[in-house]
Amino acid sequence: MRIAFLGLGAIGTPMAAHLARRWQLTVYNRTARTAAEFAGRYGADVAATPREAAQEADVVVTCVPTSREVEAMLDGHDGLAAGLRRGSLFLDCTSGDPATSRRIAGRLAGQEVAFADAPVSGGTNGAESGTLTVMVGAEADTFRRALPILSTFGSRIEHMGPVGTGHAMKAINNALLAVNILAVGEGLAALVKAGVAARTAVEVLNASSGRSFVSESLVPERVLTGEWPRTFRLALLEKDVGIARSLLEEVVVPGPMLKLAAELFARVPAELGDEADYMEAVRWIEQQAEVAIRG
Ligand code: NDP
Repeated sequence: MRIAFLGLGAIGTPMAAHLARRWQLTVYNRTARTAAEFAGRYGADVAATPREAAQEADVVVTCVPTSREVEAMLDGHDGLAAGLRRGSLFLDCTSGDPATSRRIAGRLAGQEVAFADAPVSGGTNGAESGTLTVMVGAEADTFRRALPILSTFGSRIEHMGPVGTGHAMKAINNALLAVNILAVGEGLAALVKAGVAARTAVEVLNASSGRSFVSESLVPERVLTGEWPRTFRLALLEKDVGIARSLLEEVVVPGPMLKLAAELFARVPAELGDEADYMEAVRWIEQQAEVAIRG
């Protein structure tokens, strides 16, 4: 079986590397040099266009910033839609939005191509170790077909419901992460300013009921060290909070907290730059509060 993978970014690269070890792989990347380097390192064929990538593929996997880029890659003379084979499978691992995915699925159904939204969580570490959680929105039959491919880089593959529900699950997960980052950052900034040592504050928090993934893993690794490694662009988390907010509006759930988080997250990339890492939201809080949370 041949798989085509499009989007060799921070998380797409380790996912595609797992696929290269198990299946015949064709890669496409907007910046062609990245695809050539990947092929040299992991063994894969390189396609010059999305169309070329799809032409020989039984399965097409996309992992780009948003659903907008997925939809744009379908279009045009060199687009995916012009190359997709009847009966093939299209797995979108982008953290995208449900409405666009439903539209893409409808369009592909006309070409007899099955679609699943299959966003992932677990970060670049999880992608490297092949232990991602994959949240799948698809028909039951499409989910069954997708399982062996998604299991190549994921250890928990969950069928959430019809097309769009994978993206809905992912957006809500990341919105909760975003709210937590802001809350933990604000709380720790206050404690340090009140005279508590940052490391002690984090240790006590992590022995108490306010603890979370942010306080247990991300703060010790990235905030206390002041290292701010770049693994997941803050602008991408901002996009996820926006998708979650739209979902709440669509299903008519009042969401004042997510609305505020979306507004705050919209400000941070503008001030820290588009390449800032998501945990640098805490660095932004530090700047506002004129304090450093280190220890
Ligand atoms: P990156 O910004 O690192 O990479 C984006 C990729 O998409 C690159 O390969 C880029 O190509 C390509 N791309 C960008 N714009 C276009 C376009 N217009 N047409 C075609 N290709 C394009 O993002 P990540 O890899 O971090 O994220 C990808 C997706 O995975 C996002 O939806 C993100 O939210 C999600 N995700 C990321 C996680 C992480 O830890 N990084 C964790 C979980 C989900 P080029 O090389 O030319 O720039």
